[in-house]
Amino acid sequence: MSISSLENVPFENPFVDELRGENSGEKGSRQVPGYCYSRVEPTPVQRPHLLAWSDELGEFLGIEKPAERGPAVNALAGNLVTASMKPFAARYGGHQFGNWAGQLGDGRAISLGQVAAVDGTRWEIQLKGAGPTPYSRRADGRAVLRSSLREFLCSEAMHHLGVPTTRALSLVGTGDAVVRDMFYDGNAREEPGAIVARVAPTFIRFGNFQIMAAHGEIDNLRALADYTLRHHYPELGAPGPDAYVRWFEEVARRTAVMVAHWMSVGFVHGVMNTDNMSILGLTIDYGPYGWLEPYDPDWTPNTTDFGSRRYAFGQQPRVAMWNLMALAQALGPLLPDAEVLREGLNAYATTLADTQHALMLRKLGLTPQFPDEDRGLTQALPQALAEPEIDMTWFFRQLSQMAPALVADAGNEDALFAELIAASAYSVAADADRNLRQWLHRYAARLRQEPADAEAIRAGMLAANPKYVLRNYLAQQAIEAAEAGNLSALNRLMHVLKTPFDEHPEHEALAAKRPDWARDKPGSATLSCSS
Ligand code: AMP
Ligand code: MG
Repeated sequence: MSISSLENVPFENPFVDELRGENSGEKGSRQVPGYCYSRVEPTPVQRPHLLAWSDELGEFLGIEKPAERGPAVNALAGNLVTASMKPFAARYGGHQFGNWAGQLGDGRAISLGQVAAVDGTRWEIQLKGAGPTPYSRRADGRAVLRSSLREFLCSEAMHHLGVPTTRALSLVGTGDAVVRDMFYDGNAREEPGAIVARVAPTFIRFGNFQIMAAHGEIDNLRALADYTLRHHYPELGAPGPDAYVRWFEEVARRTAVMVAHWMSVGFVHGVMNTDNMSILGLTIDYGPYGWLEPYDPDWTPNTTDFGSRRYAFGQQPRVAMWNLMALAQALGPLLPDAEVLREGLNAYATTLADTQHALMLRKLGLTPQFPDEDRGLTQALPQALAEPEIDMTWFFRQLSQMAPALVADAGNEDALFAELIAASAYSVAADADRNLRQWLHRYAARLRQEPADAEAIRAGMLAANPKYVLRNYLAQQAIEAAEAGNLSALNRLMHVLKTPFDEHPEHEALAAKRPDWARDKPGSATLSCSS
């Protein structure tokens, strides 16, 4: 298949063609009962210019990397809508922080339609920050560079870590200023605007179904469920009550796999509202997310959530379950007996536990041999890591390098563990590492029962434990440079995050633990929802 410039790529529009939408084209904020989407054109921006591009995703989609300016970038900014695009904003609702919020919808995201990748699979392209839609409520439909850069970098970083996620194709500067009150303290200021073109098979969320159920729009609910099954879960068979049950179970399983991955890399989504839960089990809507630095289940970067910490790292498995229950409730009207969906919730719990365990075994270089004993081992680790404020990325990477020495059992374990903890802890209060040391002794004994040779174990662990993750302060540095017109930090980060398991000796600094100055710095440690 050939590679084309975006303005020449044919788009298909099944969401618009097969579901009920309103076509007034009006951009004014309003309730849109009775419809799955609104047709709405992006609002042009002043001076669209390409800031970043994902080469690998572009190649996969058969889309050529655009020049800094020109028709392809105009399309990525919403300034050019080609003949085959039928842009739309989806209608959805959601529970925000546990409370039903009514209609939300794509308030600043506009989908252009879908394109065929080189393997024939279909991918929707959506512009985030493309201007007002009927779902914008009182906001402006725009996005600032800082949050767009964070979404662009993190979705690609997650993909390369093997975490299920939506993707990002491009980051485009708009040349327009956007006014934001970043700290919600009455000090609004102008910031550069940007648009991310994000990519996924679909951006349908739990909330798309919830809004239909909440309004008693059962025909739309069924139509959307059938659409989702036909296009995204064809392997589950013809739509109907039995298929809906299998489908819910599969959504639950995928959600569990996604959350297990978050827990294994130290990712905190930050805003797990039901409108931010993908029906495909993909990480979606990168807002005030963050990466664990000191291992702390109670940590969240989201300042809006500092009071209740509903979406803190350690809460994520429970919240995903809560969100699945909300989805089950929305799907209830499609079934003679909604109780059968309970199986799906059970599948969530089992898949989560199994996947978390399997991922942890891989990180530890262990193969499943002693099921009960190994569960005990993996389950004891989080607590042991939390006490001495361990940087989990560093810890697992160092542990990987140390595996051959542990296997060799030369009688120097205590020294090795002291070195490991000193290298990966932020601060060790007296004796706070006692449990971790004990755990490490137990682990080393278990490691020596592995049949593989030590070098093979190390290689396997290095392939499971990234050296590079998008540390919060690194993203912030790239943002500050980009706002000043310098894209080199962004490009450097993108480079290492594409191969996070490799060594990049020239970029050792990008693997460093969080420096002290970044500990409480806004953007590096805390984030608001303002974006
Ligand atoms: P989020 O917190 O990003 O998941 O957004 C929650 C809701 O607010 C969604 O309906 C968004 O589309 C909407 N929203 C967030 N920011 C804006 C904005 N700047 N303009 C319009 N709608 C927005
Ligand atoms: Mg959202």
